[in-house]
Amino acid sequence: MGMDVYGLNPTTEAPPRPDENMPEEWREKAWEDYFDGQALSGQYFRNNVWYWRPLWDYVYELCSEVISEEDYDLGQENSGHEIDAETCKYIANALKIELDNGGVESYKILYDRSIEALPKQVCHCCKGDGKGAHYSEGKDTCHVCKGSGEVENYGKHYPFEVDNVKEFQHFVENCGGFSIC
Ligand SMILES: [Zn+2]
Repeated sequence: MGMDVYGLNPTTEAPPRPDENMPEEWREKAWEDYFDGQALSGQYFRNNVWYWRPLWDYVYELCSEVISEEDYDLGQENSGHEIDAETCKYIANALKIELDNGGVESYKILYDRSIEALPKQVCHCCKGDGKGAHYSEGKDTCHVCKGSGEVENYGKHYPFEVDNVKEFQHFVENCGGFSIC
């Protein structure tokens, strides 16, 4: 699952789609470049849900003057919610300042620390007793937690990356408003 963010009025042309007939070994790179180009031109930005949530949290935290609570909530759904061009100008500018002054990197350090400090959670499979359950029913040890009864905190699935912020900043600067689908 992921978020597809579409530019409403991009300032630049989309890059050409990769040629379907290109040799197999070039394809992965070509599609990667294609999607990078889409983001840079303000046409289309995508994130899987793990990346999107911390990114959108950060953007909201930074720009809560122009992003309403409703925008924030709807931005976590694939409902086509729109952020207008005026708001995008503000977001792009705020992100640019924080990227340039090291604010994003400082945020990442704090973010990673808070993620690291998250306590382990009770294993969802064996419910914490460490004995086999579901696939390992009847066995001595649970196949998920290997018998410890604990698993890593779910919050550790959500990475925050400076490069992702950079790419999003380029997108927002050139998108002329966007919708989150
Ligand atoms: Zn377990």
